[in-house]
Amino acid sequence: MALKLYNSLTRKKELFRPIKKRLVGLYTCGPTVYQYAHVGNLRTYLFADILKRALLINRYRVKHVMNITDVGHLTSDADTGKDKVAQEAKRQRKSAWDIARFYEHAFKKDLERLNIIPPSVWARATDHIQEQIKLIRQLERKGFTYRTSDGIYFDTTRFAHYASFGRNNLKGIRAGSRVARGEKLHATDFALWKFSPKKARRDMEWSSPWGMGFPGWHIECSSMSMKYLGKHFDIHTGGIDHIAIHHTNEIAQSEAATGITFVNVWVHGNFLRLGKARMGKSEKNFITLETLIEHGFDALDFRYLALTAHYRSPMAFTFQALKAARTARLRLLEHIRSAIKTKRRPRVTRPLSPSLYAKSAFLREINNDLNVPRALAVARKHIEKTAHTSRNTAASIAWFDQILGLRLLESAYLTPSLPAAIQKLMQEREALRKSKEWESADKIREVIKKQGWELEDTASGTKLKKR
Ligand code: AMP
Ligand code: ZN
Repeated sequence: MALKLYNSLTRKKELFRPIKKRLVGLYTCGPTVYQYAHVGNLRTYLFADILKRALLINRYRVKHVMNITDVGHLTSDADTGKDKVAQEAKRQRKSAWDIARFYEHAFKKDLERLNIIPPSVWARATDHIQEQIKLIRQLERKGFTYRTSDGIYFDTTRFAHYASFGRNNLKGIRAGSRVARGEKLHATDFALWKFSPKKARRDMEWSSPWGMGFPGWHIECSSMSMKYLGKHFDIHTGGIDHIAIHHTNEIAQSEAATGITFVNVWVHGNFLRLGKARMGKSEKNFITLETLIEHGFDALDFRYLALTAHYRSPMAFTFQALKAARTARLRLLEHIRSAIKTKRRPRVTRPLSPSLYAKSAFLREINNDLNVPRALAVARKHIEKTAHTSRNTAASIAWFDQILGLRLLESAYLTPSLPAAIQKLMQEREALRKSKEWESADKIREVIKKQGWELEDTASGTKLKKR
């Protein structure tokens, strides 16, 4: 069965053909770490996770790179305004480094709670300054850049195919006022390198052939993706707001530098909305995962909710919808528990197939541009129908869960029957292990053992067994 994806570049659903036979290069624009991610951002990372899982289930190996934008993203995507991280640092009276690391850590925790598979490579912009300088120099040598009093800019009129995919928005940008354009020659030109202010020091600044300063946001993604995935790679993901400017600029500068196609397939996720507007950090119209958890939801309730809409459709966030997702998830877990009647957790050493029919129906939906809502319906129907009949149910559930990522078996077997006190102890032990306090962690293990539970630490996390 072949995977079809909607490519924003051609505006068509296309058969996915990898550049290398079985290894796919995938790049996901990561977060700008100046605030907690909101559940809208997380919807986009959930869709990228599903895409990666779809590649894996189609037996591709995936090299997945995600960046952390810890410098250079200005308050306007069109490269005016202030550096978002630096601005937040000033507001909180902390250093830009502290702000960036704090929100990076919070972001990774969110991904873990949502069972999003971590990328093969995390790439921080501030760890790749030399690569970015090198790329800017390459563009400079080829005559694509010019200097203003505040930085080095890319001249978009020198790149013939500029904005072939953000074309709808181009008129709007071109119509921008002269004031907003500043010293830029054209409204669409963008900063590759920004100079530090003359009289003040920034927390984050580096020397460069053009003087002290910091890189622009767009150049980060081009240089880091090409470093890890090569000049020409398979798939690039992000939210639809990135099409008009960020991804248009990434294509322009990468292809201007290398002279070859940058990325074959661009896949974009649509917005999560809150009320009438898009959920957004800058708009201060957002909800975080932490808030949902404080309201008594499980992070996986939000994952379930995200699975119920196609990634290219806009989705409205409401607590009512989230409650319905929770009910549906818990009901599914009930079915799983009754499907596998034995109290002991079944041994699933590798995910076996469900019936051939259910498997191909599920894959057909996934491979049709990631139609997860319909795939989820197929999985539910199969699980509900085979409850009490199939000996193979646990294996089937594990197979579906390779895509759904709802931790179905673990949730069905562990969480509901687990006393709250044990859960709390496990969390505390996990925190101790993270800070490498092994002795204290072992003591907690002993306490848990006395309550009748055995802990086993495996590569995929800590497992719990009733003794
Ligand atoms: P940022 O941290 O602002 O760079 O955004 C991180 C990711 O979230 C990007 O891929 C954005 O396109 C995406 N994004 C931003 N707002 C939303 C939203 N309301 N719904 C879905 N994705 C979003
Ligand atoms: Zn990016």
